[in-house]
This record gives sequence, structure tokens and C-alpha cells, in this order.
Amino acid sequence: LTSSDPIVNHQICVCVRKRPLNRKELSKRDVDVVTIPNKENVIVHEPKLKVDLTKYLENQNFRFDYAFDENSTNEMVYRYTAKPLVECLFDGGMATCFAYGQTGSGKTHTMGGDFSGKGQQDCAKGIYCLAARDVFKLLHSKFKKTELSVGASFFEIYSGKVFDLLNKKLKLRVLEDHKQQVQVVGLKEETIESADDVLRLISHGNNVRTSGTTSANQHSSRSHAVFQIILRKKATGKLYGKFSLIDLAGNERGQDTISSDRQTRMEGAEINKSLLALKECIRALGRKQGAHLPFRASKLTQVLRDSFIGDNSRTCMISMISPGMSCCEHTLNTLRYADRVKEL
Ligand code: ADP
Ligand code: MG
Repeated sequence: LTSSDPIVNHQICVCVRKRPLNRKELSKRDVDVVTIPNKENVIVHEPKLKVDLTKYLENQNFRFDYAFDENSTNEMVYRYTAKPLVECLFDGGMATCFAYGQTGSGKTHTMGGDFSGKGQQDCAKGIYCLAARDVFKLLHSKFKKTELSVGASFFEIYSGKVFDLLNKKLKLRVLEDHKQQVQVVGLKEETIESADDVLRLISHGNNVRTSGTTSANQHSSRSHAVFQIILRKKATGKLYGKFSLIDLAGNERGQDTISSDRQTRMEGAEINKSLLALKECIRALGRKQGAHLPFRASKLTQVLRDSFIGDNSRTCMISMISPGMSCCEHTLNTLRYADRVKEL
């Protein structure tokens, strides 16, 4: 992909991002089994055994709206995924961007939620921050300058429960009224005035999120993080547009449903349920006609309900994949899931 390639304008955009092999994988002599031959295709060279036990590679082909190879930058991924959705907020629309994939595949790196080690430099180039930057750019450009205010909320969904990351990890209730409007009761919404404010909130939220847990990655692999940029009419406070950016739980956790540990098993079942419901809700968004949507099947889809309905809803899913042979099964699972989301 080059910056001159056209941007697709689908209501649902499904794409794939491959990360490079990391140092640990290289030192273990893991090999790259994923090829991205052009801007839309992904080929996985799956290791197989013949009946006589000789090994061979079988090519599995997939096609998406975009395929980003290991040399792509966050800016590049952003340009073709979340950026086209920012504009729809200013038309009073709802946008969602999902980072999907196995733990370690690059979800948090892409979204810009990784504040460990390298500091905020990298986060400023993540999708949370790039999206906020464009929201303010559009807000300050010619139209609607004075009419709208911008706020942000940040929460996580862990084992089917909602915790406010901007308010001391308070556990929040989710209520649905008779008009099927869903509300996260008491969710804190901070006014923001710049992309720097977003960095500050994400950093703060992440500290809150992982405090008291042994490993940040262990915890984040088991929970969905939802960051929202919210536009409101200044005069009335009424919701105008909302962008939800979601760093999903590791999809391999759905397989924890067979674990011997009860807690792990329950978490796994919840993650499995939410990722299945998510797939169905996105597919239904594309199909339009009032099919029954399994919103209530999980907390994740329930709190995102208002983003899936309405004529002006747009979604992108970025499916992250690891390149190594050791991850091949998970990579194929991720690609098959993304393929199903796309297929109408
Ligand atoms: P996840 O959130 O899916 O569990 P992370 O985003 O934490 O995965 O990524 C795992 C590791 O790989 C991190 O150290 C991250 O910096 C690195 N990484 C992920 N994607 C890339 C990429 N595209 N380029 C370079 N390093 C990456
Ligand atoms: Mg992560």
C-alpha cells in the first residue's frame, strides 16, 4: 500500500495487519509463514503432515479490504481504517474500530495503549491518539466549531463486568430502558481539548487497569478495553456522535473454556461468547434488514448497541496476526473469523 492507494468507503471495513517476527521468535528460530503479496491478500503457509509423515506446506489464501504487511506503520494502518470514520462523527454518526487477534499479535501497539517501557512517543502514533488529533482538526476547521464539545470515556469489560478506568476502576451497571437504549450508569466522561489530553487519559486509565495485577499483558489478554470519543451539542448536552475504539481480549482466550481452573474457564466462556456475538452484530450491520441481533448475548455487544444500529454507523476491524509458524493455528483462526465478519 502506498499513500496514493484509494480508500474504500464501505460501511464495514475488515483488514489484517501482520507484525514482524520479534527477537524472541527469531532466537527460537521460529519462521515466518505469512506472506502478504499485495494490498489485499494474505497467504498462510500452513505446515502439514502427509500419511508417510513427510512434512509439507499448504497455502491458505484470504482476501480483505486491506492487508498490511510487517513494514506498515501505525500511521499507514490508521489512514485506511479509522481515519475515514472520523468524518462520519461530524455527520452525527457512530463509528467503531476493533483491534482483534491473539495475545501478542499487536493490538495494543496498533491502538496506542502501550505505555510500558518506550514511553508516550509510541502512543502518540497509535490509533487512539491519531483519531483524536483528527477529531480536533475537523472540529477546528470551518464547520461546527462552536456547537460541539468533545469528551472521552475509558472502561474495560472483564468477565462480563464493566469497570470505569477513569474513575478508580469503579464497577458500573449497564441498564437498558424500555426503548432499548443502553446506558452504562455513572460512566465518567472527561472533557478533552487536545490529543495530549487523550494520551494523559489513556496513560492514567492503563495504570488503573493493571494496578494490582501481576502482569499487564496477562490482564489485558482477558479483558476488552473500550475508549470512546464523544461529541455532544454544547447547548443541550445531547449526544451527537461517538467513536468507540476497542482493544479486544486475546481471541485465544476463548479456548480457555476447557481449562481445569474454574475462574479461567468462566472468563474464557465469556470472551468466547462476546467475540461470537460481536461477529454476528457486525455482520447484521451490513445486512441492514431488521434481523434479530444478539446484542444481549454479551456485555461487549450490549454496551455497543447504539453503535450498531442507526443508518449512520460505520465499523472497521483490524485483525492482527503474528507471523511465526508457532502461532499458525491462532493466525488461521483469526483470519477465518475476520473472513466471516466480512462475508455478507
Ligand atoms: P497484544 O496487545 O495483541 O497482546 P502487543 O501490542 O502488546 O500485542 O504486541 C506485542 C509485542 O509486539 C509488543 O512488544 C509490541 O511492541 C510488539 N509489536 C506489535 N506489533 C508490532 C509492529 N507492527 N511492529 C513492531 N513491533 C510490534
Ligand atoms: Mg494488548
